[in-house]
Amino acid sequence: MRDMDPNDIRIAARELTAFCAATLVKAGARSVDAQRVAEHLVTANLTGHDSHGIGLLPAYLKHAEAGLVDVEATPEIVHDHAAIVKLDGRDCWGRIAGEAAMAAAFPKAEALGVCAVTLSNAHHLGRIGAYGEIAVNEGFAALFFVNVTDHDPMVAPYGGTDSRFGTNPVCIALPPSGTKPSFLLDMATSRIAMGKARVAANKGLRVPFGSILDENGLPTDDPSGFKGFEQAGALAPFGNHKGYGLAFAAELLAGVLSGGGTIQPGNARRGGIRNHMTAILLSPDAFGDPAAMEREMEAMWDYALASPPADWDSPVVAPGDPERALKKRRSAEGVPLDPETLKQLNDAAKAVGVQQRLG
Ligand code: NAD
Repeated sequence: MRDMDPNDIRIAARELTAFCAATLVKAGARSVDAQRVAEHLVTANLTGHDSHGIGLLPAYLKHAEAGLVDVEATPEIVHDHAAIVKLDGRDCWGRIAGEAAMAAAFPKAEALGVCAVTLSNAHHLGRIGAYGEIAVNEGFAALFFVNVTDHDPMVAPYGGTDSRFGTNPVCIALPPSGTKPSFLLDMATSRIAMGKARVAANKGLRVPFGSILDENGLPTDDPSGFKGFEQAGALAPFGNHKGYGLAFAAELLAGVLSGGGTIQPGNARRGGIRNHMTAILLSPDAFGDPAAMEREMEAMWDYALASPPADWDSPVVAPGDPERALKKRRSAEGVPLDPETLKQLNDAAKAVGVQQRLG
């Protein structure tokens, strides 16, 4: 499996985390928050989601400087009734808000078998699969729907020619069962994540044709309009009308139920990233015979993965498997970073007074 380009250099996750945390502290973050946010970003790199990794640090610093993330805020529970709990992130770091939402949901999901938790006004939640991992580590299954506001839209509706949605991620996580690891489907509803267009533009690479619409609304494979943190054109939804429908559903479930709002232009677009989320946690134990469920899970998993591969070098895997494999490799070998991203990171850190340089 090719994991880096010739110009990339590998840096150990520990070094990246320390650099990122130190930089966030210089930008005003509490050191405990800075460490959690840094680990969250670098884990995104480790699992192969460079689009949601340390490359976002310059944007986070810009947001902190502009007050678009409140480095002193902590999330608050604003509604708590029966199987529902609602939190307001108060614009605090997304990772901190996302963890708080999970912690608030666990006791209800444990006691009632199910809990719906909403989170409004979190800064960027990053890789949503991280919250799926937190849920499955506690033995819960979970479904996450997320929308993005405070930002110009990035994704065109199916059949449209300009952006009207965020990249609205959806995540479905199931805990390990028997010999099987956790199931973790975690994806943007755009065909490629915004950050993937940015990383491709930084590296001078093409993206799959039609995953981007140019400024005239025409399909293209040229991501150059997404270099740095600019955007010219729109991302396309995955799966045509189906992905568009799922993006729309995430917009409504996350933006409306949480009270955080949707991306329609009546809501603020200050140039930050606000994520709102609706998640449903399920306790498998509340649904029936654990041994029978385990047998069925194992049988289905084996059946699906036994399909003869179209390419014998790429056997069928389960959602979550690619991230597990890459995490193992990158934890051992280091995280590859391209020269443009390295430069952006070093420039951004220097601007807040960090002496250390990466690379
Ligand atoms: P992706 O296309 O790389 O992968 C999506 C999913 O597909 C993963 O669950 C992965 O395990 C699975 N997968 C990949 N290859 C597979 C294969 N061969 N067989 C079976 N399953 C396979 O992900 P993406 O859509 O580019 O999203 C990247 C990240 O961006 C996600 O972590 C997402 O949460 C995050 N994101 C966050 C926001 C936000 O606002 N916070 C917005 C958009 C995306």
